[in-house]
Amino acid sequence: MNDPAHLWSACATTIQNHVSDAVWHSTFRDIRPHELASDGLRIHVPNSIARDKIERRYRHLIEDVLTEITGKQLRLLIDVESISLEAGDLQSAEELLLPAAADTTADEPLDDPRQVGTVGSGEGLFVDEPLNPRYTFEQFVCGPSNSFAHAAALQVAEQPGRVYNPLFIYGGAGLGKTHLLHAIAHFVNQHYPASLVRLVSTETFLNRFVYAIRSNRLPTFKDYYRRLDVLLVDDAQFFAGKEGLQEEFFHTFNTLYETRSLLVITCDRPPDSIPTLEDRLRSRFKMGLITDIQPPNIETRLAILDHRVPDECRHLLSNKVLEFIAERVTNNIRELEGALTRVCAFATLNRQVISVPTAQDLLRDLFTPQKQQVVTPGHILTACSTMFGISIDDIIGTSRRRQLVTARHIAMYVMRDLTDLSFPAIAAEFGDRDHTTVIHAVNKIKELMSERQQVYEQVTQLIRMLRSNLVTAA
Ligand code: ADP
Ligand code: MG
Repeated sequence: MNDPAHLWSACATTIQNHVSDAVWHSTFRDIRPHELASDGLRIHVPNSIARDKIERRYRHLIEDVLTEITGKQLRLLIDVESISLEAGDLQSAEELLLPAAADTTADEPLDDPRQVGTVGSGEGLFVDEPLNPRYTFEQFVCGPSNSFAHAAALQVAEQPGRVYNPLFIYGGAGLGKTHLLHAIAHFVNQHYPASLVRLVSTETFLNRFVYAIRSNRLPTFKDYYRRLDVLLVDDAQFFAGKEGLQEEFFHTFNTLYETRSLLVITCDRPPDSIPTLEDRLRSRFKMGLITDIQPPNIETRLAILDHRVPDECRHLLSNKVLEFIAERVTNNIRELEGALTRVCAFATLNRQVISVPTAQDLLRDLFTPQKQQVVTPGHILTACSTMFGISIDDIIGTSRRRQLVTARHIAMYVMRDLTDLSFPAIAAEFGDRDHTTVIHAVNKIKELMSERQQVYEQVTQLIRMLRSNLVTAA
């Protein structure tokens, strides 16, 4: 493929599958392919804002796609097309200081997991948390264990700030808290498009707070959160033991509450069980409605599995197999999904109808009774380094050699599968990459698992080793 226009058109099709329509129109549509050199593709963009946005957020994604299509490592070279300054091209000092500030309020609704994130660790003031397009109310399967939380979430989304405020949802890992939070954001974005909705994990809130203090921009930080119509805070257990953060959030909470903005908070435990939470914040958390999510019963687990079986795999999995998985994976829906992905990948790869004994064999690591250790990013990087015979520095580094890229993507997939880390948090483990790269990698490996035997085996073997405590972290 020697023609830049031809190459760009192939890339564009793939990129469109990875970003929302809004992002496509605001960022990619006006790109013009210009020249294809031996080491890179030169593109023209209409202004420096577009260039900076691509540079900050989408370079990795585009370069990944270029490599995927050409099999070569091509750099992306970005030129601004015209030197005449348009009004929109003039950046205020504020925009220059706050890398993503312009974007969060401008053309992109908060509805796309790939639109976000300049710096993986959440540094920078207004790097929004991604919304997962799949985490909607429609995709949430209700049962006795979660129907109350679901109903409450739907109610607050329908009338933000008018019913329970705050809504506090708690429950164990992998039971759908983050899913419900995203569902509220999607719903409000869709039905109240003028509302300012932001979803932030407590960790990201902390990172930005620290960054604001360090860079002397606390007033901007305060103003940003206190202007919102809806603030969704994930994983409030991280407030424990952080006095300064609690103090800051207390004031944010009060301002939002007074202006009848909606607050929804999730946590892995009820407010009374968060250690070292100041009483005044604890009492704020308890002012509205508190609801929990319990592990789903067998019928709900089965309904979730049934909902998630990909069409192309349905004829390969009998109800007996789904029942078997639902019976054996009981506490965590993320694990339930991981088990299903693995069985489906095997079935599709081998074009084989799966029997219960085969499923049992494929998932044997899930059923070993021994106490499982918590798998950390360190364990995963060590395991990948051993399996692929490359150093951890190489895995988290920036080299785009094909073998390294695949190992890196597999490491990202396994991290998503075995830990509770969010996409930005995983990106931070890989040298502060943009988290769009992680989303891309996870989807890619999911696909490759049903296409390439080797990838399927590498992933399964890594997960087995890590689950059965065979790895110690570096
Ligand atoms: P938590 O935040 O409670 O740890 P998540 O919201 O991240 O859990 O959920 C883990 C995975 O399980 C996600 O992929 C989510 O979509 C899925 N999930 C959780 N609950 C449900 C449900 N009731 N219906 C469908 N999928 C669910
Ligand atoms: Mg969560």
